[in-house]
Amino acid sequence: MFELGGFLQQQYEQDLYRRRISCEGMQGPLQVCDGKQFLSFCSNDYLGLAADPRIAKSMRDATEQYGVGSGAAHLINGHTTAHHALEEELAEFTGRERALLFSTGYMANLGVVSALVGRNDEVIADKLVHASLIDAAKLSSAKLHRYQHADISSLSARLEKQTLSKRLIVTDGVFSMDGDIAPLPDMVNQLDRHKNTAILLDDAHGIGVLGKHGRGCVEHFNCNNEIDILMGTLGKAFGTFGAFVAGSEELIETLIQSARSYIFTTAMPGAIAEATRTSLKIVNTANDRREKLKSLIFQFRKGAQQLGLTLADSITPIQPIIVGSAEQAVKMSKGLAEKNILVSAIRPPTVPAGTARLRVTFSAAHDETQVDKLLLALESLA
Ligand code: PMP
Repeated sequence: MFELGGFLQQQYEQDLYRRRISCEGMQGPLQVCDGKQFLSFCSNDYLGLAADPRIAKSMRDATEQYGVGSGAAHLINGHTTAHHALEEELAEFTGRERALLFSTGYMANLGVVSALVGRNDEVIADKLVHASLIDAAKLSSAKLHRYQHADISSLSARLEKQTLSKRLIVTDGVFSMDGDIAPLPDMVNQLDRHKNTAILLDDAHGIGVLGKHGRGCVEHFNCNNEIDILMGTLGKAFGTFGAFVAGSEELIETLIQSARSYIFTTAMPGAIAEATRTSLKIVNTANDRREKLKSLIFQFRKGAQQLGLTLADSITPIQPIIVGSAEQAVKMSKGLAEKNILVSAIRPPTVPAGTARLRVTFSAAHDETQVDKLLLALESLA
């Protein structure tokens, strides 16, 4: 084996060493991790559905029908009636002709980008898009261009450059480490002026959360028809696992024929698809949860601003506190852990150097007293 210790030592010395904690029991505001009980503000379980008994029951019941493993890829014999029904329901939910399930959001992005563009094409990505979109662009062999974060003039300048190739603009809907929302209406306007160009919207953190009916960023901005390719994940607001891509009949058939991360992998278990069908019904009518989230976010922002903390410009459940150095972020995260509060420190390379942060996230399962506890703990650290 070759030498690996140098890299590990360097990670350690730069406060970039990553460690896992082992949690017991279910997702929820109160969690026992490494044997100690925490009040947690770091999950993406935005609607508090990850431990919902109705969804868990669907999964238990479905294992009676489908067993545990799906046994094969979708194109062999791993595609069950549960997957199929969920795809039809997701198509209806997103107002699109069809939807296609992927085993994870990471794989969905890899599959879509590499199926749609190749060596002679371009991927044009917001500077802060999720790592999976960058990896997807690299895998596709397309030329990768980045534009300044959420900056339409920077995107527009890139699009003005003449090309004969296909151009895929890729963006997070809600940016995973910042919580702000992509300027979709302005982006869509760019499409009118440029042919052979499409937008892939990765709405991992918006779907289920934003919009009156939880349709995500496209509902928030009322621009569903203008976004050709929508990717949503099921492991966050939906509380289950997996992801989907929704769009036209032609798009989905193209993905079935050529998305390698769809074709060459085992299908997600049918029982998870069945559990997600129950989750989708709840998400559809979860206005009360979305309203509660909004009020918790408002409470937190008001309190954090009074403490003089630097918050990002975010109306979503992702509310990072920007602290600057990785060292300071780790120190604050440890300080909160000593007070039994779990908030993760996010450091480079996940975020740009000098912008390390505490990534605070909220769930409809939190209550006001818990948000007050977090604010009190932050005050005592300050
Ligand atoms: N896109 C974004 C914006 C994400 O934040 C994530 C997960 N953190 C993914 C894609 C990947 O989704 P999954 O966890 O289902 O692989």
